[in-house]
Amino acid sequence: MNVKEFVQYRKGVLKDEAASFAKPPKLCIIQANDNPASDAYIRGKLKDSDELGYLSELWKFEPTITQEELLTKIEEANNDPSIDGLIVQLPLPSHIDEAAVKNAVAPEKDVDGFHPMTTFDPCTPKGICDYLAHEGFPFKGKNAVVLGRSNIVGKPMAHMLLKNDCNVTVLHSKTTPEDRKFYIEHADLIVVAIGRMHYLDSSYKYKDSAYVVDVGINRGEDGRLHGDAEPGLPVKLQTPVPGGVGLLTRLALMENLLIAKKNRE
Ligand code: NAP
Repeated sequence: MNVKEFVQYRKGVLKDEAASFAKPPKLCIIQANDNPASDAYIRGKLKDSDELGYLSELWKFEPTITQEELLTKIEEANNDPSIDGLIVQLPLPSHIDEAAVKNAVAPEKDVDGFHPMTTFDPCTPKGICDYLAHEGFPFKGKNAVVLGRSNIVGKPMAHMLLKNDCNVTVLHSKTTPEDRKFYIEHADLIVVAIGRMHYLDSSYKYKDSAYVVDVGINRGEDGRLHGDAEPGLPVKLQTPVPGGVGLLTRLALMENLLIAKKNRE
C-alpha cells in the first residue's frame, strides 16, 4: 500500500473503534503563536479529528500571553475530564520556556509524546514505524541509518528504531562523505531528515531491498514541496513528498488520541 492508501485504511479502523465508546475521543490544541505554518498544521489536525468523528477544540491565545497564564490554561485542560488528548502547538513565543510547557502537559494526555514521563510514542517516528511495519519491514537486526540528529526528528527516530531492535547509525553534518557513502550503501532502512532538497540522490549504490523514508520538506524554486531524497531511487520502497511522512505524522496523532481515550475508559 502506498502512504495515502495506508492512511485511509487506518482512518477507517480508528473511526470504527471509536464508535464503541459512549463519547468520541476529544483533542484539545493550545496555540500561543500567530504562525501561518502552525495555523495550517492545526487545520489539518482538526480536519482529521472531524473526519474520524472525534471531537476537538482549539484554545488560541495571543503570542503576548505570559508563561504563567499559559501554564494555567494547560492545567485547566489537564483537569478537564472531557479532554482525552492535549497538545501545545510549537513554536512558542521566545519569552516562554518550551521545556516548562512540555512538562506541564499531563503525561496521560500527552498525545504528542513530548513529556519526559509520557507513555505515548512521538508522532513522526511512530507514524513512520507503523507504516514500515505494515509494509513488512523486518526491523530486527536490520541496518537503519538516520540522517539528521535534531531533537524533534532525528534523535526520537533513532530511539524508536533501537526500540524496534534495528542496528542504528545516526549521521549528521560532521559525518565525512566517505563514511556517509559507506553507511548509506549498507543500509536496509534510510530515514532522511536534514532539510536539503534531493540530498539523497542516485549517486549512491543503494541495496535493492532498502526502504527510504523521506522526512524532509523543502520549497523548491518551482514553488513546490520537495523531499530530501530525489524521487524514484532504485530501492524497494520510498515515501513521497508531499503525501508521505506528513500524513503519517497526522495519522499517529489520531492513533495516540484513541489510545489516550482507551486508557481513560
Ligand atoms: P534541523 O533541526 O535543521 O536538523 C537538521 C539535521 O540535519 C541536523 O542534525 C544537521 O546536522 C543535519 N544536517 C544538516 N546538513 C547536513 C549534511 N550536509 N549532511 C548530513 N547531515 C546534515 O531539521 P529538523 O527539524 O530535524 O527537520 C529536518 C527536515 O524534516 C526539514 O526539512 C523539516 O521541514 C522536515 N520535517 C518534517 C516533518 C514531517 O512531519 N514531515 C516533521 C518535522 C520536520 P548537525 O546536527 O550536525 O547540524
